[in-house]
Amino acid sequence: MSYLEEGLKDSEVLKLDRTVKNIAVIGAGIVGICSAYFLKKSGFNVTLIDREQPGSMTSFGHACTFADYANVPVNYPGLIWDIPSMLLRKDGPLAVDFFYILKNLPWAISFLKNCKKEKVNEIANSLTNLLKHSQISYDEIFQDVNVKEYISYEENLYLFDSKKSYENYEYANMIRKNNKFK
Ligand SMILES: Cc1cc2nc3c(=O)[nH]c(=O)nc-3n(C[C@H](O)[C@H](O)[C@H](O)COP(=O)(O)OP(=O)(O)OC[C@H]3O[C@@H](n4cnc5c(N)ncnc54)[C@H](O)[C@@H]3O)c2cc1C
Repeated sequence: MSYLEEGLKDSEVLKLDRTVKNIAVIGAGIVGICSAYFLKKSGFNVTLIDREQPGSMTSFGHACTFADYANVPVNYPGLIWDIPSMLLRKDGPLAVDFFYILKNLPWAISFLKNCKKEKVNEIANSLTNLLKHSQISYDEIFQDVNVKEYISYEENLYLFDSKKSYENYEYANMIRKNNKFK
C-alpha cells in the first residue's frame, strides 16, 4: 500500500478511484507540489498547472520552517476587537487594502464568523489531523530527492516582549494543549 493510500485509508470522504489514471493538480505551491508528488509516486499521470511560476506565490515568502506545530488558526475569539489596534498601531501587524476587502466581502465575513470559539476549536482540530502526517511526508520527500543534509531539526521558540503579550497568547497554548501538541 502506497503512502498516499495509507494516509487516506481512514478517510470517509476521499476514495482513490483506480479507474482514474490522469490527474490535474491546480496550483504549484507547496501544497500542489506535494500532492502532485505523492499522486505521481502512487502511479497516476499527473499534470501540475499554475498561471504563475511554480513556487512563486505564498510558498515563496515563507519563514523556512516545516511548521508541523502550526495547528493554531489565524482566527481567534475576540480578533475583531483587536483589528483597530492592529491597523492603527505604528508596529501593527496588519495592513489592509479596503477596496480589496470590499471586493471580497463574503470572504471577510466568513473569516470573521470563523473566529467563534467553537469554530476555532473545530479548525484547530482539523489542522492537527492534517499536520499529524506532514513531517512523515516531508521526511519521505527529503529522502527521495536527496536533500536531507539541508534540513535542520530544531525546537520552535516563541518570544514575548511582555507578560501581557504572553497572557494574550494563552488561548493558543490552550489549543495546543487540548490537541496534545507540545
Ligand atoms: C510571511 C509568511 C511566512 C510563512 N512562514 C511559514 C513557515 O515558516 N512555515 C510554514 O510551514 N508555513 C509558512 N507560511 C505559510 C505557508 O507559506 C503557506 O501555508 C503555504 O505557502 C501555502 O501554500 P499553497 O500551495 O497553499 O499556496 P501558494 O504557494 O500560494 O500556491 C498556490 C498556487 O496556486 C496558483 N493558483 C491559484 N489560483 C489559480 C488558478 N485559478 N489557476 C492556476 N493557478 C492558480 C497560484 O499561482 C500559486 O502558485 C508562511 C506564510 C506567510 C505569508
